Amino acid sequence: MTDSFQTQVTPDNAQTPRPDAAARHGVMAMPQLDYTPELAKEMEPLYERVKTVVPPVEWPFFAPYIKAINNLKKQRGAVILAHNYMTPEIFHCVADFKGDSLQLAREAARSDADIIVQAGVHFMAETAKLLNPDKTVLIPDSKAGCSLAESITAQDVRDLRRKYPGVPVVTYVNTSAEVKAECDICCTSSNAVQVVESLNAPRVLLVPDRFLAANVNNQTDVEVIPYEPGRCEVHERFTAGELDDYREMHPGLKIIAHPECTPEVLKAADFAGSTSGMINWVQDNHPAKVMMVTECSMSDNVAVENPDVEFIRPCNLCPYMKMINLKNILDSLVYMKEEVTIDPVIAAPAREAVERMIRLNG
Ligand code: SF4
Repeated sequence: MTDSFQTQVTPDNAQTPRPDAAARHGVMAMPQLDYTPELAKEMEPLYERVKTVVPPVEWPFFAPYIKAINNLKKQRGAVILAHNYMTPEIFHCVADFKGDSLQLAREAARSDADIIVQAGVHFMAETAKLLNPDKTVLIPDSKAGCSLAESITAQDVRDLRRKYPGVPVVTYVNTSAEVKAECDICCTSSNAVQVVESLNAPRVLLVPDRFLAANVNNQTDVEVIPYEPGRCEVHERFTAGELDDYREMHPGLKIIAHPECTPEVLKAADFAGSTSGMINWVQDNHPAKVMMVTECSMSDNVAVENPDVEFIRPCNLCPYMKMINLKNILDSLVYMKEEVTIDPVIAAPAREAVERMIRLNG
């Protein structure tokens, strides 16, 4: 584990002492979690919606949690942000806002809720906190990290600045607040080319994902310098040869890929885009058969809303995203844990890097 991630999960109470979230909002009683015939009947319409992606044998376990979470959300005045990679029982049954990390943080900023529960990984909860500094932001498991975010520290960025003096540094949103604080501007996979070009510089460092940097480099005249160690352990596993094999097995298959994959995979795909871009592509094009080359829960989530499309699922799971589940979401709401806090000295420049990107996108 890198020093940057350790700092992310360390409360900043030493600098700004205040009661923790449980003391501010109170702890509630754990609800009953029995799957009674009454509950089964009440939850039938919801199951109808997700029955193609949630096996019947799992529903009696999920349903009491879903009911309890939705009740508690109302009592707490809380909202749940769910990333596109959450499992369908979270994504479709308890989430208030769904999307990529930036969409989620922006939605949270517009909401009146005092409490935000991030169903996603830690850098996403930090981004939500950066944009909602006065709200209580909780993550059900603060160990839910990200191989990309953990591949780079603030010191690594300072070293890069020394190695490339005067070259602006763009950070992908998948980084800790400490890393964002050292960078000039943030980007997402959907706006990375636009952000790089906005700096009007002949060379730009794009950290930490080396494949995103290579893919952006292929789309612009700006020289995009990668940070070699950075990669997503989920997306780097896909290969162009694997895509060819799927095409052979499934004639007519359309393949859409995330830009955290290698340039070879993107070249072999019919379309490349962010998670939101991929979802829009399916909705706009309605292919008979599609394969989403990304974390595998996303196919389940998109399939629910596109029942006429056949999804071929090459299943690469993100172990960090899968640390978030209905049980720890419920624990978050009952016990008000785990609270995300950011040292104000780091939060100010990190927020500026995120807001600079948002201003660019309007
Ligand atoms: S899928 Fe990759 S980039 Fe996304 S959270 Fe998991 S490890 Fe990080």
